[in-house]
Amino acid sequence: MNVLIIEDNQDIAASIYDYLEALGYTVDAAGDGATGLHLALTNNYDVIILDLGLPAIDGTDLCRRLRHDAHHTVPVIMLTARDSLESKLEGFKSGADDYLVKPFALKELAARVKVLSERINRAPVSQLQIGDLSLNVETHEVSRSGKSISLNPTLFRLLTFLMQNPHRVINREELVYAVWKNNPPDSDALRTHLSNLRQVVDKPFEYSLIYTIRGFGYKLTDKYAND
Ligand code: CA
Repeated sequence: MNVLIIEDNQDIAASIYDYLEALGYTVDAAGDGATGLHLALTNNYDVIILDLGLPAIDGTDLCRRLRHDAHHTVPVIMLTARDSLESKLEGFKSGADDYLVKPFALKELAARVKVLSERINRAPVSQLQIGDLSLNVETHEVSRSGKSISLNPTLFRLLTFLMQNPHRVINREELVYAVWKNNPPDSDALRTHLSNLRQVVDKPFEYSLIYTIRGFGYKLTDKYAND
């Protein structure tokens, strides 16, 4: 597993480096945002550990550039000394997948690195199943509770991406890119398509699978099915 640490505090960077290397990971480290962004864009990492406060380019800016300019999907764990809701919101908005407040236990960081890398690096499968909803990426067949659902190509791409990334909050930019790539429609289109998707995937059924997480984005999950 390849991990990139972008952290300007040399003591923290060194302790993370040593800990992960001892676990058998291949680790690169950058002490500023510009070097970190360059490494992130030119190498394949399984996970990036990113400090929020960095010289040259700060953590949120770096993460935003990685996600929105380069459309990189590598998992990012943001580290910060600030335990405020605002900095967490900033981190998630910029596209971070996880968040850890300093001081943290290296054991916890390593556990989160492992979980994130496993989630992203699972082999692609053609048959997706969340709760009673199933979708076949190859045959384009979609059904819920055994009832066939027909979707136009845009709604199919939208649902496919949501089902490939279940149980996590996906921000609007990521979703827009997944569906429209570099030709995003006007700002209200995503909302309209999601509403249309819910009409056929959620509304006729007993419980909802698609959730709006206000201020963050959207999540597809069956975790609340029996709540
Ligand atoms: Ca720092």
